[in-house]
Amino acid sequence: MADTESGRARVIDGKAVAAKVRAEVRERVAALKTRGVEPGLATVLVGDDPASAIYVGNKERICREIGMASFGFRLPATTGRAELLALVDELNRRDDVHGILVQLPLPAGLDANEVIERIDPAKDVDGLHPANQGRLLAGTPGLRPCTPSGVMRLVDETGVDPKGLQAVVVGRSLLVGKPVALMLLERHATVTICHTRTRDLGAEISRGDLVVAAAGKPGAVRGEWIKPGAIVIDVGTNRTEAGLVGDVEFAAASLRAGWITPVPGGVGPMTIAMLMSNTADAASRRAR
Ligand code: NAP
Repeated sequence: MADTESGRARVIDGKAVAAKVRAEVRERVAALKTRGVEPGLATVLVGDDPASAIYVGNKERICREIGMASFGFRLPATTGRAELLALVDELNRRDDVHGILVQLPLPAGLDANEVIERIDPAKDVDGLHPANQGRLLAGTPGLRPCTPSGVMRLVDETGVDPKGLQAVVVGRSLLVGKPVALMLLERHATVTICHTRTRDLGAEISRGDLVVAAAGKPGAVRGEWIKPGAIVIDVGTNRTEAGLVGDVEFAAASLRAGWITPVPGGVGPMTIAMLMSNTADAASRRAR
């Protein structure tokens, strides 16, 4: 975390935190190998969407960098439902595969929910299987979704305990908003979830000691709404003419917040790091 001049927020450096998480995972992987277990992640990419190909390529590269086995499967966009489900079944059975990641979105005609539900929940390192979502809701151990886990790790970097804080989450998606809200609740924050029907977003945010923005709308969170000293985590990743921007008005929010994440370089790098961490967790559970 870099301190900036007084009156300005400290910027939480997601790249540095992600590097720290990867280093931790590398050590855990080395320890597992001494016990005869080499954690392995299978990545499945269906179709030729260029952005998805880059994401999957990065995941495979980082996997190898930290010493885990990476098994890449590239299937044509014409792949049928039965063929994809058969691959998932095979990966569920393989002992050398501890984590399975099916890159979303899938081409039209393939049902992502059906494919995710076919993954063995013990290998669901994206944390999207209903069994793992249910465990999060129940507060029992399970694989947690990667981006929300990354958000929590960045909050922890501030050294501030979420217990008792007023936390405001903007966004209620199954991928980000809802799981982040549940994780904050698990850590005893008092959580408000906002969405497009929220009557007065500014009023809600201005009460937040901790704000997580996951709306996918540039400028959805105005700087003037931020409570002085608040922790602001910006999940938003929006491609604009000015480049990649978050949901929070960064410059204005930085004048009021205590801590803030930049975009890019905040939550973004955390997602893959937490995916690696989940794969190591899945392998450790099997090694017991
Ligand atoms: P999503 O499925 O589109 O959900 C957006 C949520 O925000 C919805 O619940 C929506 O409310 C709410 N919302 C949208 N505009 C709003 C506004 N002006 N005021 C209040 N609430 C608003 O998006 P997502 O998948 O959760 O992703 C959110 C953002 O995070 C995107 O920019 C995405 O690219 C980014 N993201 C980044 C990472 C990463 O960094 N690794 C990972 C995942 C997502 P309704 O429910 O009422 O429609």
